[in-house]
Amino acid sequence: MQRPLLKKAIVLGGSITGLLTATVLATFFEEVLLLEKDHLPETTAPRKSVPQDQHAHTILQKTLLFIEAQYPGICSEITATGGNIIDTSSDVCWLFQDGWRQRHHSGLQALLTTRPNLDQHLYRRMRAKYPHVQCRQCCKTTGYLYHPASHQITGVHILNETGQPETLSADLVVDAMGRFSRSPEWLQQAGLGSPETAEVKMQLAYSSRIYQQPDHTPPNWKSMALYPSFPHTWKSGIIADIGNRQWLVSLCGYFGDCAPAADDGFLNFARDLRSPDIYQLLKDSQPLTLVKIHKVSKNIRHYYEKFRQLPDGFIVLGDAHCAFNPIFGQGICIATANVMALHQQLQRLYAQKQPSLRGFSAPFQKAIAAQADLPWFLTNTIDLSYKQAEGKRPLGHTLLYRFLRKAIAAGSCSTRLNQIFLKVLHLEASRKDLFNPLIAVTMLRHELLSMFTPAAHKALIRPVNHPQEVVTS
Ligand SMILES: Cc1cc2nc3c(=O)[nH]c(=O)nc-3n(C[C@H](O)[C@H](O)[C@H](O)COP(=O)(O)OP(=O)(O)OC[C@H]3O[C@@H](n4cnc5c(N)ncnc54)[C@H](O)[C@@H]3O)c2cc1C
Repeated sequence: MQRPLLKKAIVLGGSITGLLTATVLATFFEEVLLLEKDHLPETTAPRKSVPQDQHAHTILQKTLLFIEAQYPGICSEITATGGNIIDTSSDVCWLFQDGWRQRHHSGLQALLTTRPNLDQHLYRRMRAKYPHVQCRQCCKTTGYLYHPASHQITGVHILNETGQPETLSADLVVDAMGRFSRSPEWLQQAGLGSPETAEVKMQLAYSSRIYQQPDHTPPNWKSMALYPSFPHTWKSGIIADIGNRQWLVSLCGYFGDCAPAADDGFLNFARDLRSPDIYQLLKDSQPLTLVKIHKVSKNIRHYYEKFRQLPDGFIVLGDAHCAFNPIFGQGICIATANVMALHQQLQRLYAQKQPSLRGFSAPFQKAIAAQADLPWFLTNTIDLSYKQAEGKRPLGHTLLYRFLRKAIAAGSCSTRLNQIFLKVLHLEASRKDLFNPLIAVTMLRHELLSMFTPAAHKALIRPVNHPQEVVTS
């Protein structure tokens, strides 16, 4: 790698997006400063400002490949302290909408671990590989330094480690402050206005706790997910094998329906899921932690790519750009895709004779907006199918939802269609792939069968295999 030419970047937020971003910037900038208002993930202690870190997380393949390429051996290190690399189909029992999904070898991997374990390893490896990345914790960003003549963000205001105000300058400021980022407000304060924002309110509640797995033979899966039947029911549950013979269990409800923290209430919620499997496992297992509850009130997206007043020297990534229902576990995958786009664009910049960040921000925001489009569409189409969800329903939403529902259902009956759906979730396929002719034909077959021979249709949408079975051909 050539000598870094750009001078200084500041990354705001020391969670997953911030750590991945600093990793990329470290090879392009002489100085990188990571600012975190909470503690940095030096240990596996829960971090108050990342409340979701106590809940089940599936880390999809894109992120695994990226971090392994940056820090060879990191995935083995993570699993050695607690975790499993799984195949996202053959190792997962997934009851979804119209039945159990096919279990087959998909070749699409994921990591099951706790968030603190992931973040801790990433932080440690970043510090070891890039000593010039300076990290400051307990430093809260409070606003931006804007230079009107150059229409550029030139730094940040912070309250430092001792609570004193400080101003820091930079050539590039990166917002990785998560879903509660106050960038829109700070841009407004700088006299720039703020980007258009879209919201879908669905009041999701997660209740999670860790269990010791019982001594008997372990099941032949690593993750079990019992999803609701949209839009009729809204309780769901996930068990993730996080290594060390432990299960991280998350029970979720919409619209204020929250699994209680009390032992009985938690188990009762599990019993009310669409299938008794999770309840049966939990009732004979030993809880190791108390129940932690986290509520996510809405999906939120800021359209920085359409924001005409977007200043130079400033970009927004990860949840700070677009944060939504984690139903498909895509948040970190999108953050990774954002960071990969940043890497690509900086490489392109370096190919120029006089690399300059002038005019960098707007095309970058456009590139990452496209990455968020499909996951945003998927989760919102499903969330808005509930009449209680608040948000703008696009024209033809009901039709779209029906189509999506059928496309997803088609994947319960066919390995090939299931693979397409999985690729969409992993951001390895597009909306066009999801609505391809094969799916349309399968859907049509379903429609005709349901009209003329309802019994045959019912048999078709039933799980073609028992959830414990894995399809081998
Ligand atoms: C219940 C739940 C389950 C989830 N499950 C999955 C899953 O299975 N798979 C998946 O991929 N994704 C999942 N997600 C989404 C995932 O957690 C997020 O996409 C991811 O954490 C986003 O990372 P981030 O770094 O952008 O934001 P965050 O992780 O929210 O971090 C933001 C950071 O910025 C810091 N910060 C905020 N304000 C300031 C400030 N003023 N100054 C300095 N620092 C600041 C915070 O302290 C924090 O460290 C889940 C989310 C939830 C809520």
